[in-house]
Amino acid sequence: MNHHYEVIVVGAGSMGMAAGYYLSRKGVRTLMIDAFDPPHSNGSHSGDTRLIRHACGEGPAYAPLALRAQTLWDDLAAKTSETIFRKTGVLTFGPASSPFVKQAIDSGHTWDMDIETLSAGEVNERWPGMALDDADIACYEPDGGVLFSDNCIRTFRRLALDNGAELKTDAPVTNIDVAADSVTVETDGEVFTAEQLIVSGGAWNKKILSDLKMNIAVQASRRTIAWFKSNDLLYKADTFPGFFGDLPSGVFYGFPSIDGAGVKVGRYDNGDDAEPECINREFGIYDKDEGDVRGFLDAYMPEASGRMNAGSTCLFTNTPDENFVIDLHPEHSHIAIAAGFSGHGYKFSTAVGEILSELVTEGTTEQDISLFSAKRPALYPESVRT
Ligand SMILES: Cc1cc2nc3c(=O)[nH]c(=O)nc-3n(C[C@H](O)[C@H](O)[C@H](O)COP(=O)(O)OP(=O)(O)OC[C@H]3O[C@@H](n4cnc5c(N)ncnc54)[C@H](O)[C@@H]3O)c2cc1C
Repeated sequence: MNHHYEVIVVGAGSMGMAAGYYLSRKGVRTLMIDAFDPPHSNGSHSGDTRLIRHACGEGPAYAPLALRAQTLWDDLAAKTSETIFRKTGVLTFGPASSPFVKQAIDSGHTWDMDIETLSAGEVNERWPGMALDDADIACYEPDGGVLFSDNCIRTFRRLALDNGAELKTDAPVTNIDVAADSVTVETDGEVFTAEQLIVSGGAWNKKILSDLKMNIAVQASRRTIAWFKSNDLLYKADTFPGFFGDLPSGVFYGFPSIDGAGVKVGRYDNGDDAEPECINREFGIYDKDEGDVRGFLDAYMPEASGRMNAGSTCLFTNTPDENFVIDLHPEHSHIAIAAGFSGHGYKFSTAVGEILSELVTEGTTEQDISLFSAKRPALYPESVRT
């Protein structure tokens, strides 16, 4: 067997599997390697669904990436019978003073999106399942919705393999040697070489990148998500949107009840730093696992605060400024990096995969990725400099 490739992708999760697919479309001889068998529940993509908002509260720079990602999700949906995306609309809400809500509205206007700015009264009347405070406002984007993340990764995987890409599963990469114009990648028992490398190891990126002499401040953390029995007349996906609340009590996000699964809700802030090897993956070991989201539901969506149907854990990997890292390695132009997706990366994974495929084949991309530079000082605080 020939173990040489044009590109090796280390980590075939959300970003890596998408990159493998876009490379395969270009006819690039690609090997994807994953420590598990994606989609799986050990990294950052588990839990069935992810929200896609286009009017990004994270800042206007994210909006063009979200719009490109949506176009690519729609393309992907046309290539499979699996459900990729459901247009439920997304409601972003919080006090009128919330920078996140303001930025969502600004993004929507700047990029000429179809958004509505609503008062608390208008929200509560339109969706009787909501109970916003009088001082709250909301940005409603009807074109946002829900991505079915496991289906998406499965579809990328199938199409990439159909196009001739290769995938090694259950094969943790144990060592990477970098030469001037090639890389050697080792798993337990096998050695592969390539001209280019993509590093997309999610919560494991801190370790992988530090082995590549790139000590950036990315920190994994334990997160939880739970599904609650809810009044489907009020919260089913036909009528109720995805939601993101930037609130004085915390930042919460969630999904309407899909196929009777109940409302799914998670807390965006207040995670517990933990390396992926050490994380306690049992839901419910801390009172806050259920307590935090229960408190949110009682206050803002009381008819969705029924019995808990299920709960699970997942990992965020945050950078200090919560902006992503999508760039070439500062010292090795044949290595591209996708890291630090800070709990809001999934929706972009089509666009990120496309960008990574361009970075390794052309050395550049048409998308503006300056915000995601691997050289920005925020990634190198004093504590991680070597
Ligand atoms: C609970 C939760 C809810 C979220 N909700 C949203 C949302 O609504 N909208 C949104 O846009 N984003 C959301 N996110 C964030 C989003 O899911 C992540 O940003 C995204 O999945 C990160 O993708 P990734 O490719 O970096 O990581 P992963 O998808 O985890 O992929 C990394 C892969 O690398 C592999 N790997 C690691 N080390 C090695 C190694 N040594 N060798 C081989 N393979 C290796 C892993 O097995 C894994 O498959 C959420 C995240 C969580 C945890």
